[in-house]
Amino acid sequence: MRAISRTPLALPKPPERAPEFGRESLIVCESLVRIYQTGSIEVQALQGLDLLVGAGEMVAVVGASGSGKSTLLSILAGIDAPTAGKARVGEWDLLGMSRGARVRYRRHTVGFVRQQTASNLVPYLTSRQVVELPMTAAGVKARTRRQRAGELLAALDVADCADRRPAQMSGGQQQRVAIAVALANQPQVLLADEPTGELDTTTSAGVFEAMRHVNREFGVTVVVVTHDPEVSGQVERTIAIRDGRTSSEVLRRTETGEDGDTRVIAEEYAVMDRAGRIQIPREYREALELTRRVRLALESDHVTIRNDPS
Ligand code: ADP
Ligand code: MG
Repeated sequence: MRAISRTPLALPKPPERAPEFGRESLIVCESLVRIYQTGSIEVQALQGLDLLVGAGEMVAVVGASGSGKSTLLSILAGIDAPTAGKARVGEWDLLGMSRGARVRYRRHTVGFVRQQTASNLVPYLTSRQVVELPMTAAGVKARTRRQRAGELLAALDVADCADRRPAQMSGGQQQRVAIAVALANQPQVLLADEPTGELDTTTSAGVFEAMRHVNREFGVTVVVVTHDPEVSGQVERTIAIRDGRTSSEVLRRTETGEDGDTRVIAEEYAVMDRAGRIQIPREYREALELTRRVRLALESDHVTIRNDPS
């Protein structure tokens, strides 16, 4: 019998731990799911949404009505709890928070401007009083409260509205005050759900500019939901949500041409999720009649998707 010489098996390397998704980001959502149950009807508002936002970034979230934008923001605001997946803001794990932690999170880490303009202010309180309110709840001293309220109203260009009540202000002024309220306790993150939805175009652009200002000035990370497609030109990154998932992103950059003029260029990217799924836009699918089965081929530097004629 011949002896078979065997080369010793190479010892398997210890598995390298995959780095945590979005470890460097301030806001991380991974495969986020939110199912609403009303009676026997189930609505999947979020269907495995991935989202990363870096500290100091300002991003816009766009998408058709019912696509899950408000659901996402309520979860990030600590008002609603996800059904499954991961959601983290800074050190806070939004799925496993105790009630006490949730109160602290909402009071100090995030500021929220709600979709309904009227629900952000209090009819019988002046702007100064309503900005001081969250600080009072957080136990901030009266002098500091007053000083900070003044600074915030000035930063949002509504210092002259300090002693007015909501009924004495325009829609745009009310929303600026609402942003000041959201920033009262110096949160890391400002969330705004269609803050300009009830405003005309010019006023809306002004409120948007005010948010860009506080983003730059205070370094607060901003996530703003809007239905205005024009905003992609005003923020670095616009995230589109479709059917409860992030479907594409528009990145904005400025380019200096040979004539020395700078131009703003907005480019749209498809977003690939953690499992490698991407959404092919409907126009593309229709143009090539791509249906259920397509052929994928790996080329040296790109991937092709073709109709399968069989
Ligand atoms: P958007 O803000 O993009 O318009 P929403 O996040 O408000 O979308 O809603 C996403 C989906 O979840 C919609 O189909 C909506 O009807 C449903 N939905 C939202 N809130 C509730 C709720 N509290 N109960 C039941 N269904 C809800
Ligand atoms: Mg909404």
